[in-house]
Amino acid sequence: MSDFRADAAAASEWVARYLEGVRELPVLSRVEPGQIKAALPDAPPDRPEPFAAVLRDLDEILLPGITHWNHPRFFAYFSISGSEPGILAELLTAALNVNAMLWRTSPAATELEEVAVDWLRQLVGLPAGLHGHIEDTASTSTLAALAAARHLRPGGAVLCSEHAHSSVDKAARLLELPLVKIPADSEFRMWPDALAGALAEHEAAAVVATVGTTSSTSVDPVAELAPLCAEAGAWLHVDAAYAGPAMVCEENRWAFAGVEEADSLVVNPHKWLFTPIDCSVLYTSRPDVLRDAFSILPEYLRTSDEDVTNLMDYGPALGRRFRSLKLWAVIRCHGREGLQALIREHMRLARLFASWVEEAPAWEVVAPVPFSVVCFRLEGSDEENAALLERVNATGEAYLSHTVLDGRYVLRLAVGNHRTTEDDVRRAWELLQEA
Ligand code: PLP
Repeated sequence: MSDFRADAAAASEWVARYLEGVRELPVLSRVEPGQIKAALPDAPPDRPEPFAAVLRDLDEILLPGITHWNHPRFFAYFSISGSEPGILAELLTAALNVNAMLWRTSPAATELEEVAVDWLRQLVGLPAGLHGHIEDTASTSTLAALAAARHLRPGGAVLCSEHAHSSVDKAARLLELPLVKIPADSEFRMWPDALAGALAEHEAAAVVATVGTTSSTSVDPVAELAPLCAEAGAWLHVDAAYAGPAMVCEENRWAFAGVEEADSLVVNPHKWLFTPIDCSVLYTSRPDVLRDAFSILPEYLRTSDEDVTNLMDYGPALGRRFRSLKLWAVIRCHGREGLQALIREHMRLARLFASWVEEAPAWEVVAPVPFSVVCFRLEGSDEENAALLERVNATGEAYLSHTVLDGRYVLRLAVGNHRTTEDDVRRAWELLQEA
């Protein structure tokens, strides 16, 4: 254990140094494909090596190959943060190394998961009584929700907007369900009339509405879609993987109008709730259907425990990490007010950036900014915008990504890291203008 104490101290010193200095590192890794592999031995060591050797190689070999998602100027995709309480809880989770498949295989892991997801439910203003459990990613949560829908209507179609995330396509493919894409309006929201038409044409197992789409963070009008789903007997799944955490602030709850009618809803604390990846929460008002779809009880997992929840019954995985510990730690150590302050600041920074773009000649904001993502472009061709993005990212000072909206290549700036300041956003704007 003396080695462990020394190694743990060195590892925590490494983490502290990394977090203090990450701002100085190039956000986007500059290595060539294969460079990291070439620097690593082909074969494992025969003799034990000290942990210090792992830390040394982390610095010397791996770090150049890291794209720093925890960098305050990471503005690509959806910007995320592994905040300090979550980082520490991950260490404790590994130390305990429990598998929360059955209640008895760690009662605390199951019961803390029930408490932590209920705390999150209250924080984002979802109705009481929803069943929640944690999956690794929203892709798995959506797969689980659509498997439940298929259980009720085998072979039925999955309907979603043309702006839904590709995880919906992937789940439909895995479940061998037909997928129907519904057109969106000029602000990238699913068009209710088009959904009504598609529901008349297709026997639907499920409709997926998105609150915070991947490209533009548009919000499908769930309150208008829900009655159509109910009439058609289709399962309504809401993908709030990104925008769900924003509902911690009451002023954003307009985006959750109607979600109380949903059969299931996914929120990702690992996207915008400062929780290290991976942590996705799937809520459902119909846990019995999920259990029917997923529960398989081989003899070796049979127990005499009565009135307990065995979380393996609600999703595809048997083995389950103790992810609730980090979610619980993040919620406790930030508190409702701390989370609200961060989310409000990120939205303020996004609006500020959008105002700079709007005021600058030749630049335009190309989609509404309901949360913390700005879609924008410079007058000119798609190729010119793509080249501009490459030049900004090559500086190493900031990392942005792109999407296509209305057939045009557009740049995206996503704010979501808890260390991002106004200066960071201003620097990104300077870099774009210089480029
Ligand atoms: N849903 C939306 C709206 C997303 O933007 C994403 C990813 O960015 C996902 C789902 C998939 O998330 P995950 O990586 O947790 O599977």
